[in-house]
Amino acid sequence: MTETIDRDDLAALVARSNRIVGFTGAGISTECGVPDFRSPDSPWRRNAPIPFADFCKDPAMRAEAWRRKFAMDDLYAGACPGQGHAFFADLAREGKLVALITQNIDALHHASGLDRDLIIELHGNGTYATCLDCGRRHELPAVRAFLADTGSAPTCPCGGIVKSATISFGQSLPADALQRACDVAGSCDLFLVVGSSLVVRPAADLPRLAKQSGATLAIVNREATPLDPIADVIVRGEIGDILGSLRQAAAPV
Ligand code: NAD
Ligand code: ZN
Repeated sequence: MTETIDRDDLAALVARSNRIVGFTGAGISTECGVPDFRSPDSPWRRNAPIPFADFCKDPAMRAEAWRRKFAMDDLYAGACPGQGHAFFADLAREGKLVALITQNIDALHHASGLDRDLIIELHGNGTYATCLDCGRRHELPAVRAFLADTGSAPTCPCGGIVKSATISFGQSLPADALQRACDVAGSCDLFLVVGSSLVVRPAADLPRLAKQSGATLAIVNREATPLDPIADVIVRGEIGDILGSLRQAAAPV
């Protein structure tokens, strides 16, 4: 049965778990100044992502997509990891974190010092670009300079389309990342969701998979999610506050 527990109980649950998988969404980064997607007045609504099919077929859409991306990047330039990111980095240092699955594209888990081999990025990474044809990496300052000079989106030397290394609406998730996420979800003892509305699929299927495979499912979020009815524990509130106090409680004196 689902229960809403307080942070002391969450601390005990984390303490007795040894194979923890974290699953994070945009909510873990809001305290860092990166806006989430669905909260009211989100700037993502003004700079709505362009669907993948439109991006691919229309050069004007590509230029517009880059303009919107850079507008969003400028909003949270210089953002640093928060308490939630540090909490997972601590778990990794204790040897309890099997993997950290994230829907986020802000690379703040990397910036927290968490071993990159533990991070599974389901929706890609917004800090660089890749060619959709040859896979070559392109750096954002060069893309931005090209856009400013020409008003157009750049193309790769191979002639392919250059796109932010994120997964757009209508674009398939990276199969290897999704497979790895399914594997770790199916073999952990605690699946800990932090800061996700759990409405974006297939990512939102992973907590259900973990639960069906025998893991305890815990959700830390400010508001209710559609998977609350199958969660074992729910902690409602501010992520920085909740996970920050767990870190403090676990810190050696
Ligand atoms: P979402 O915006 O749908 O949900 C975020 C959830 O976190 C909401 O339920 C909100 O109430 C909660 N929340 C926000 N701040 C919180 C806080 N400080 N404490 C507690 N709860 C808080 O995000 P999602 O589920 O990750 O789905 C959005 C999609 O958009 C993802 O696919 C992601 O790729 C993308 N996105 C990424 C970023 C990022 O990289 N930081 C930001 C926005 C959107
Ligand atoms: Zn190319």
